[in-house]
Amino acid sequence: DTIAADLDRAVAAFPDREALVDVPSGRRWTYAQFVADVDRLARALLASGVAKGDRVGIWAVNCPEWVLVQYATARIGAIMVNINPAYRTHEVEYVLNQSGVSLLVASLSHKTSDYRAMVEEVRVRCPRLRETVYIGDPTWDALLAREAPADWPELSCDDPINIQYTSGTTGFPKGATLSHHNILNNGYFVGELIGYSEQDRVCVPVPFYHCFGMVMGNLAATSHGACIVIPAPSFEPKATLQAVQDERCTSLYGVPTMFIAELNLPDFASYDLTSLRTGIMAGSPCPVEVMKRVVAEMHMEEVSICYGMTETSPVSLQTRMDDDLEHRTGTVGRVLPHIEVKVVDPVTGVTQPRGTAGELCTRGYSVMLGYWEEPEKTAEAVDAARWMHTGDLAVMREDGYVEIVGRIKDMIIRGGENIYPREIEEFLYGHPKIRDVQVVGVPHQKYGEEVLACVIPHDPADPPTLDDVRAFCADRLAHYKVPTRLQVLDAFPMTVSGKVRKVELREKYAAG
Ligand code: ATP
Ligand code: MG
Repeated sequence: DTIAADLDRAVAAFPDREALVDVPSGRRWTYAQFVADVDRLARALLASGVAKGDRVGIWAVNCPEWVLVQYATARIGAIMVNINPAYRTHEVEYVLNQSGVSLLVASLSHKTSDYRAMVEEVRVRCPRLRETVYIGDPTWDALLAREAPADWPELSCDDPINIQYTSGTTGFPKGATLSHHNILNNGYFVGELIGYSEQDRVCVPVPFYHCFGMVMGNLAATSHGACIVIPAPSFEPKATLQAVQDERCTSLYGVPTMFIAELNLPDFASYDLTSLRTGIMAGSPCPVEVMKRVVAEMHMEEVSICYGMTETSPVSLQTRMDDDLEHRTGTVGRVLPHIEVKVVDPVTGVTQPRGTAGELCTRGYSVMLGYWEEPEKTAEAVDAARWMHTGDLAVMREDGYVEIVGRIKDMIIRGGENIYPREIEEFLYGHPKIRDVQVVGVPHQKYGEEVLACVIPHDPADPPTLDDVRAFCADRLAHYKVPTRLQVLDAFPMTVSGKVRKVELREKYAAG
């Protein structure tokens, strides 16, 4: 179905239930109020000359207007282009031109980002950008004041509706083009597998610009009549826990680093998190220790781990509510309904036996239409049989549960031995002085690569030494996996979706 038709179903069933709460401003919408505002914005977009298939950019931190733009563009079949709020002029100019945005909705400013100044700087070089509207500014009110009849165009569920740029963890972001069918179904199934209903209140501290926020958050919620709760414009651990407590949220999202930040708040124990029952951890490997604390200390007994990527709408694998803790901590679960997965030898393409690592490939309704106006890159990622080659290494266990071993690009090859950083990271989490750890391969004259552990210590005044780390590993890890270099840091370089940019760590510390 189309996203608009699905929203109409939700409002018919639950007109008076809450759809959206913005904690910072205290604004709230029932489904009836939400759909009325979506439709008003959709008419204003039509009155502004936005037609079906036109690109509408959204360059904003999390706020209710973001969500309104998401559903209003879907109503009129315009293609929403999500723009990462961490971008600066160089990247935003690229994305605006690459996707051909004609109308842009942007935040005015947030923290050190002055979005208006940046748009002013690049707009002369963006010939197709006709108009920019700023949220919370007279231009937004002027947009809403434009009236056109609610003449919704004929829509098909296979129409492109969204261009989402990938996180840029491994290089320059690519614009995955997605249809109603792609993302609505994915949001729906993700919500189904964690048992969403109109009783749920979903706290979304992850950015909306990313599929984690807009699909697994917003679409999963609205397709079940649940409520979206926005704790803050960008991630803040205290504001997140406060919102869970005050809004009695039942579900909480985050990448592992967000949960680590929340669990390590000095006043963590003072928040009442008893309303939580579930949530989703995704986006990068979830350390087992963190997962256990989330279940035990945040009341998220039914928490789910998802594996996905922007190009597949995003989720392909997910743990189920009734999976035992071992499966929910050690694997990313089983394949979603109506999706296929296989694990192949990255060189020969032959399917690996269960239990053997290889490249994960996925196929089904969720595979993107393609990268926007980049057919060569699309052909590299999606083969003729429509299999998406994920670039991730995985093992399918005998019982069908899948373990993600790491990215092919992150694998360390030391003297001919394949080393998966994830395994060493899991191990080092157990060191009493280490709060967070990332392992990368750096060039080595003799072995090709060597193992560098970048650690954030619990106590900056008392960090572990390389000798401590090596002694901890001795006799418990094969000698070639034991880190030969150590770098103590206060923070890791991150993408805005909360992923560590290992590329940057590798480049920065390449030379010993
Ligand atoms: P880019 O493609 O631009 O380099 P990216 O791959 O990080 O960036 P996304 O589409 O946001 O962009 O992320 C998808 C990737 O995130 C997956 O390919 C995988 O490497 C990683 N990932 C997602 N979920 C998990 C998970 N549960 N466990 C381990 N890795 C995960
Ligand atoms: Mg990727």
